[in-house]
Amino acid sequence: MARGKVPSLLSTNNGGITYAEVERAGSCSRCKCALRKGEKVGLLKVAKAGFSNNKRLCLHCVKEIVTKTQADLDMIKAPLA
Ligand SMILES: [Zn+2]
Repeated sequence: MARGKVPSLLSTNNGGITYAEVERAGSCSRCKCALRKGEKVGLLKVAKAGFSNNKRLCLHCVKEIVTKTQADLDMIKAPLA
């Protein structure tokens, strides 16, 4: 039996998305649409050269990324069924 927590491909160190409200207006990291204060956004964790960063994404982009992730997961799971 493996010990400890089961690792996830979407753990804090391996990407994953959390949600937050926009505190500072700006634009989506992916499609560059405007993000207005108070709006809900996805925060995609990006590890880069030792420090981590959050990319702000509009919900439309989050949806596309989640859909793509799901497709990738289905591919990984297929031989395990
Ligand atoms: Zn976007």
